[in-house]
Amino acid sequence: MLIKLEYYFKNFRILRSLKLRLFLILVLVGLIPTTIMRYAFLGNYVERAVHVRTSDVQNQVNILSNHLTLYNYLQDTSLEVINAELDQLSNLYDGRVLIIDQNFRIVKDTYGISEGKTMISEEIIKCFKGESISNVDNNNHYIEMTTPITDTAEAYAGLGIDASVDSNKPDSIIIGVMLTSVSTDSINATYELLDRKALTIQLIMSVLIIALAFLMSQLLVKPFSRVSSAISEIKDGYTDEPIAVNDYLETEHIVDAFNQLQSRMKVLDDSRQEFVSNVSHELKTPITSMKVLADSLIMQEDAPKELYKEFMVDIAEEIERENKIITDLLSLVKMDKTASGLHVESKDINNLLEIILKRIGPIAESKGIELIYESMREVTAEVDEVKISQAFTNLIENAVKYNREKGSVTVVLDADHQFFTVEVTDTGIGIPQEDVDHIFERFYRVDKSHSTEIGGTGLGLAITRSAILVHRGSIKVTSEEGIGTTFMVKIPLYYIAS
Ligand code: ADP
Repeated sequence: MLIKLEYYFKNFRILRSLKLRLFLILVLVGLIPTTIMRYAFLGNYVERAVHVRTSDVQNQVNILSNHLTLYNYLQDTSLEVINAELDQLSNLYDGRVLIIDQNFRIVKDTYGISEGKTMISEEIIKCFKGESISNVDNNNHYIEMTTPITDTAEAYAGLGIDASVDSNKPDSIIIGVMLTSVSTDSINATYELLDRKALTIQLIMSVLIIALAFLMSQLLVKPFSRVSSAISEIKDGYTDEPIAVNDYLETEHIVDAFNQLQSRMKVLDDSRQEFVSNVSHELKTPITSMKVLADSLIMQEDAPKELYKEFMVDIAEEIERENKIITDLLSLVKMDKTASGLHVESKDINNLLEIILKRIGPIAESKGIELIYESMREVTAEVDEVKISQAFTNLIENAVKYNREKGSVTVVLDADHQFFTVEVTDTGIGIPQEDVDHIFERFYRVDKSHSTEIGGTGLGLAITRSAILVHRGSIKVTSEEGIGTTFMVKIPLYYIAS
């Protein structure tokens, strides 16, 4: 049943509407109690009224039964006083009274049709044994009760008639039975009248509840409509102000999450714009230089061959620089791609660093810089060889590039059970404190002219940082101007896929 309901709620679009669900809940919550109250009160009324009627009649009948004995009615049924009492009782309750003697003969019938007849039934026999019975017949709408007519044993003994002893009172004997049936029609009529009134009230209440539920459900979901229209406005580009719908805590949460998303997108958009303008600027610089060089050659009509050669060498250098920027940009784009592009393999990190140092060796040597490698232990880790090599190459190349004559670069490899660490320390120019926080930004160079002179693009550390982050590692830097810089890299030994 529940599964079926769930199926309907999931598959029928209209049933997924919050408005409809609220409406249904409010209608149910309103209608169920009114229906329960109607049936509970009315059902109770009938039960109670029948009970009251039964005990009323029982009292009357008991009094009458005493009168019957007092006036010896069983011997003489023509007594006016008693007959009047019996008629009054049957008229009052719209009923019938039969008086039966010990021979099961009907001595009195208030309807006057069964006198003289014999009547034997289980109830009458039980009553002669002292057991009074009252039955309610709901289908035919009447209450039937049997009452014993008793007399004292002594008084009766004188008459010489055989009679059964009342089991409840041993000194009394049962000389007859009163069979009384009274109608419950008036109770049923009152019940029907009340039921009709209750139904009318219930119908009016239902209409009111449905109208109220409709209004409430419209009102309750209104803030959600406001959220979606505010989001639509932003989507359509009318505004990019943060939105606020504070009617509910829930709408506040949704709106907060949306505002955060929007501001993140704004930051991304700004940084993309900045990046595009930086790229254009960086790519334009070598082209401008080439154009200036070429123009000045064209302007000079009889430029000597040597000048041509000199300018062509400069142009080739600019092309080389342009090429380097484009290569770095492509590497950066590749690094920025998510971890899905990683080719993770278990690699010997000692070996990887040795290869890098061997490659950089000649450049360092040409500057008289000593390369020192200290490996604390054998390290094998799960890394993307190409990306991680590029990261370490950039760090060691920088350590050589921004070093002083006859300086040194020390590379230390170590590991614990979770991470391996690589420290690259140089004895170079250092990084001013105010620039340390920016060196990982794209195109950021501490000293533009100096960096360009030594062939920097400002993208190397950005590439390095992306490569390390994609391995879920971290990179830190400490530096002192004129003394040197240390880069500390920490990478998990085992790649953690997200
Ligand atoms: P570049 O291609 O210019 O070297 P990087 O992104 O590799 O770009 O480095 C950014 C800037 O950080 C460099 O321009 C340089 O000023 C500074 N820098 C990087 N490494 C070092 C270092 N080892 N010593 C001093 N400065 C450094």
